Amino acid sequence: GYRKGGYHAVRPGDQFAAGRYVSQRKLGWGNFSTVWLAFDVQSQRYVALKIQKSAPEFAQAALHEIEFLSEITKRDPSNCKCIIQLIDHFKHTGPNGQHICLVFEFLGDSLLKLVQYNRYKGIGFDRVKRICKSILVGLDYLHSELGIIHSDLKLENVLLISTIDPTKDPIRSGLKPDLERPEGNPNGEVGLNPIEKKLKMRARRVLAKLAEKRKSVVESSRSERSLDGIDLTCKIVDFGNACWADKQFTDFIQTRQYRAPEIILGSGYSFSVDMTEGLSLQDHLALMMELLGKMPKKIATMGTRSKEYFDRHGDLKRIRRLKLSSVERVLVDKYKISESDAREFANFLCPLLDFAPEKRPTAAECLKHPWLQYNEDKTYGPLNNNDAKNIGLAQSTGSTTSGDCTNI
Ligand code: ADP
Ligand code: MG
Repeated sequence: GYRKGGYHAVRPGDQFAAGRYVSQRKLGWGNFSTVWLAFDVQSQRYVALKIQKSAPEFAQAALHEIEFLSEITKRDPSNCKCIIQLIDHFKHTGPNGQHICLVFEFLGDSLLKLVQYNRYKGIGFDRVKRICKSILVGLDYLHSELGIIHSDLKLENVLLISTIDPTKDPIRSGLKPDLERPEGNPNGEVGLNPIEKKLKMRARRVLAKLAEKRKSVVESSRSERSLDGIDLTCKIVDFGNACWADKQFTDFIQTRQYRAPEIILGSGYSFSVDMTEGLSLQDHLALMMELLGKMPKKIATMGTRSKEYFDRHGDLKRIRRLKLSSVERVLVDKYKISESDAREFANFLCPLLDFAPEKRPTAAECLKHPWLQYNEDKTYGPLNNNDAKNIGLAQSTGSTTSGDCTNI
């Protein structure tokens, strides 16, 4: 990691972009970057600073991400499309080379963390629906307005909008070492040349503002916490693998556990790959068929890689016996969901898992599904066919559009 071409080592209090951003604490990291909470002195708010590894291939990937994010951010000035906003980008030179840095709005934990915090016991349907709705609003924006395929949608890449206090980890110091008190000089004023004095004053001002900001963020996050459960929207991040639908340059996409059958089989892809749900390459196909039934022969045999997995009858070559189940059964037996909830949820989920990509609903269509509609009291709750009819959304006649940023 931390060598020539690799990560840039950061300490709390380091300054970036000529002092505009002051690092606070590490938020996370990926194969390409480390991500730091930073204070943006110019806009007086906390941001997430992603500092890319410096080697050319990583710089290339960062430029790729900037291309997509700039377009995404530019076309969504109201910031309501549930996609991470890019605030700024710049280059930072350090001992390990030149690092491209991306500045994002500060967000909270990923859905993976949320699931882990709940010890994989699941989260309530109300939250699940809010999260689904946000993700679908984001995908619909990407797909229908921009023609972008995310192609790496997974729990780690959906972040909750933060209700936590970003300053909870103590800010150790906003001062760079060369601005600290000179040794043996308790006041630190005497012996400083005018430039040093000026820098010191500036650092003090920044620190005072930080303290003030911290107070107000803590206060606002307190009131947000008491509203816990009312707003839980989230945002899609990590456009490192995104592509334009009309300019695909690789046929190998998606993190393995979430890979759609057409990617495994090499059958070409489109927006609908973002619409598959994650399950845990022969085994993966077998699991899919145990859950969803036998893959239609035409689909099983038409990919460029089909022969690796399927014989000419469309049967898996190495796995003979499948333990057939159904989404609804698994929801009831494994996840202990009531029969009626399971039926409604499976009704939403199964079309997304269709082996035929062209049959999967679009994000816009999903947003109209009864399962995602509010009840009259603006809550989500069990919705039966009658409720669906009452609000004009019985499945066969679904017509009302939603996905407006005000009613997620
Ligand atoms: P990589 O391309 O290296 O995988 P990511 O963009 O996925 O980097 O970010 C790495 C991690 O940093 C994320 O998993 C998340 O924990 C954290 N992170 C990224 N962006 C933000 C943000 N805007 N706010 C808060 N945390 C973030
Ligand atoms: Mg990542």
